[in-house]
Amino acid sequence: AKDSGRNSYCYFSQKMQDTALRKLHLKNQLSHAIENRQLNVVYQPIISIKDKRVNKFEALVRWNNQGEWVSPEEFIQIAEEFSLIKELGQLVLSQACLVLKQLKQQGFNDVVFNINRSVFEIPLNQSENKQWLNTIEHFGLQPSDICFELTESALAPDKRNNEILFNLLRESGCTIALDDFGTGYSSLAYVRRIPIDYIKIDRSFITDMSTNEDDNILVSTIIAMSKALGKKVVAEGVETKEQLDLLSALSCDYIQGYLFSKPLPAEQLANYLSQFNFD
Ligand code: C2E
Ligand code: CA
Ligand code: CA
Ligand code: CA
Repeated sequence: AKDSGRNSYCYFSQKMQDTALRKLHLKNQLSHAIENRQLNVVYQPIISIKDKRVNKFEALVRWNNQGEWVSPEEFIQIAEEFSLIKELGQLVLSQACLVLKQLKQQGFNDVVFNINRSVFEIPLNQSENKQWLNTIEHFGLQPSDICFELTESALAPDKRNNEILFNLLRESGCTIALDDFGTGYSSLAYVRRIPIDYIKIDRSFITDMSTNEDDNILVSTIIAMSKALGKKVVAEGVETKEQLDLLSALSCDYIQGYLFSKPLPAEQLANYLSQFNFD
């Protein structure tokens, strides 16, 4: 028994070392990839249920590291930990702005792109905020062409003066979405204090809403609350017609998910917009 105890100890410590090594390895590769602009962005349509049309896309970063797709969940965390996230964010924003500009030039004038921003990318002052705005303006776009998605974890209390930061973002003219709603803590406090335009209900609530009564109640309640507060609601991770029908009956404003489309490469957006058919 002692031996096996010792073995499992070795096993775990080996595993921890492997994890640490992989992280360091990825950090170096990622830093290189950012420098050489080797990250890609794909775009997932967000569909308006009421208008039965699409005019928003969420930008999602992709990284193929020498033949291996690394999940954003993994490398975003590494980028945050090793202070690469601001450069990564700038790269995503500038790639997205270029694509958006081209779409507008093709006549898709009212398209908006949603861009994810991590806690470490929230501007700390006016000049950091200006950097982002400069990028948007550099491509001949308006701040209102961009919506920033922020997760609740970005808003952990005491870390930053969230209200000031949000007001900075807001003054810039960009809209703001609260991402992964319901998964963090003190969600409700944020909704009350912070000037957000959209609430995105996390996929985990949508997945089981047709089979789990509690999830159904939660989703209905979030939608009713958001509407009463004058916010628009987006349901994330909609995969089935059944979910769409339930959300539609609850007057959810927008849906996003594999039912309509996976994230698409930039070259396919114009085609998607012109061929789109809700039914
Ligand atoms: P998120 O912001 O919650 O993005 C939604 C995730 O759900 C995306 O995963 C998307 O591909 C996936 N998804 C969309 N519809 C469905 C569906 O119907 N079913 C299922 N199973 N999944 C669906 P992805 O692209 O792997 O991104 C994961 C997370 O990485 C994002 O979660 C976001 O937090 C982060 N991320 C992605 N791109 C960026 C970025 O450019 N900057 C930052 N800071 N974070 C990013
Ligand atoms: Ca998001
Ligand atoms: Ca989300
Ligand atoms: Ca997420």
